Amino acid sequence: MVYDENNIFAKILRKEIPCDKVYEDEFSLFFNDINPQAKIHVLGIPKFPCTTFSNFLKNADNKNIISFFKSVQLVIKDLEIENSGYRLITNSGENGGQEVPHFHIHILAGEKIGSLR
Ligand code: AMP
Repeated sequence: MVYDENNIFAKILRKEIPCDKVYEDEFSLFFNDINPQAKIHVLGIPKFPCTTFSNFLKNADNKNIISFFKSVQLVIKDLEIENSGYRLITNSGENGGQEVPHFHIHILAGEKIGSLR
């Protein structure tokens, strides 16, 4: 999959369209999902242009990868959902049901998350 510079998250990163920001640092941006599937539904994206989880792991440097996943944990702490629980999801490619072709992690929490099927 070739990275599409015009995908909606690339536009958010370039500040061409706004987002409801939860956390940002040098490597990552976290914001509320526009169509939440739970009381808490945050999306986390690396600033590195990458299409999927595998593409991110393959192409980003270790510093960036470690920083991104540590930021996921930081946001979990900030949202105070570490003890009550949460679900992390990343959809990848056609069979995974990925809609936006910039790698992202869904953080779902705030209530019991139902079965996937
Ligand atoms: P996925 O199906 O894993 O690619 O998920 C894409 C997610 O992006 C969906 O949950 C959408 O609701 C969400 N989304 C799409 N556009 C925006 C936007 N402008 N701001 C925040 N979330 C968005």
